[in-house]
Amino acid sequence: MQIAQNSVAAFHYTLTDDEGQVIDSSAGREPLTYLHGQGHIVPGLEKQMEGRVVGDKFDAHVTPEEGYGVHHPEMMQQVPREAFQGVEDIQPGMQFQGSGPEGQINVTVSKIEDGVVFIDANHPLAGKTLHFAIEVTDVREASEEELQHGHVHGAGGHHH
Ligand code: ZN
Repeated sequence: MQIAQNSVAAFHYTLTDDEGQVIDSSAGREPLTYLHGQGHIVPGLEKQMEGRVVGDKFDAHVTPEEGYGVHHPEMMQQVPREAFQGVEDIQPGMQFQGSGPEGQINVTVSKIEDGVVFIDANHPLAGKTLHFAIEVTDVREASEEELQHGHVHGAGGHHH
């Protein structure tokens, strides 16, 4: 059967950036299982999963707009080092939780210079074109209960 609205699909993926560096991969883990058509995976990938069948292997290239969003420069800020009380060693790449106008936000430290910490509240993959190598490993109909809950049950999903 083909992946369509309300299918439960499972796939292996390797995600690389423009330089071919691996950002994330399901290799050596269980495949990723999701309920199709509910926005559980980035929109550009979800679109390209449509109509696929078990055994399909393909490359999906996803623009930032259909991935984790464009990079907003105004979401980068400079914070005095003293704001990070109780953190002994701040390094680029470290992530912190802060509160923003729309609730909890995750910020990533991009650099530290002269006692000033440069933080970035964009998604770490914002502004990046995503290159997925996909292998579809399973497709089935979602159960009534899964549709009601809006997520997958059983292998690769919620257990409750
Ligand atoms: Zn549930």
